[in-house]
Amino acid sequence: MSTTQKSACIFLDRDGVLNRDRVNYAYELENFRILPNVPAALRTLRNAGFRRVVITNQSGIAKGIYTRQHMQTCHDFLQMTTGHLIEKIYYAPYHPSVTESLTRKPDSLMLEKAIARFNADIGKSWMIGDAERDLIPAQKLGLQTIRVIRDSEERKSETRDKIETIGQHVAQNLPEAVNIILNQIR
Ligand SMILES: [Mg+2]
Repeated sequence: MSTTQKSACIFLDRDGVLNRDRVNYAYELENFRILPNVPAALRTLRNAGFRRVVITNQSGIAKGIYTRQHMQTCHDFLQMTTGHLIEKIYYAPYHPSVTESLTRKPDSLMLEKAIARFNADIGKSWMIGDAERDLIPAQKLGLQTIRVIRDSEERKSETRDKIETIGQHVAQNLPEAVNIILNQIR
């Protein structure tokens, strides 16, 4: 029955995985850059039968740096640029300095909601993120994880050792992460 059928899902962090991350938040459309080959990578996932869901912290909203409308404008652009292949974008507009929330990564509630909504098959689903806080909730819930390496400019403070201990796999970018997934299911 299709209603009870579980789905293989790819949960994606946004900043640093789909678009270039920025030190001062990515919210201005004129500075919102989709990373190379992201549309093709999403198509490959779609063609391989994976659902595609974004799970993103957007604490700049809580901090008053930008509004939901700024974010929505960027999401509309993201969807248009990537062929509307992202099925849902979950975002946590909170920050502990303003409002505590279990939806904000590394807490897992946002991911749990997405898993429930998409009836994700945990054993066949993955989380792709560029930060420890993306992968902590995924590992807690039993998803497979891939750590995407951020631009060298953005990650000077992080050591290679740390990277390797967090994700189960490490990829340079989303297309490489997709290849890892396809190699696992073949
Ligand atoms: Mg990120």
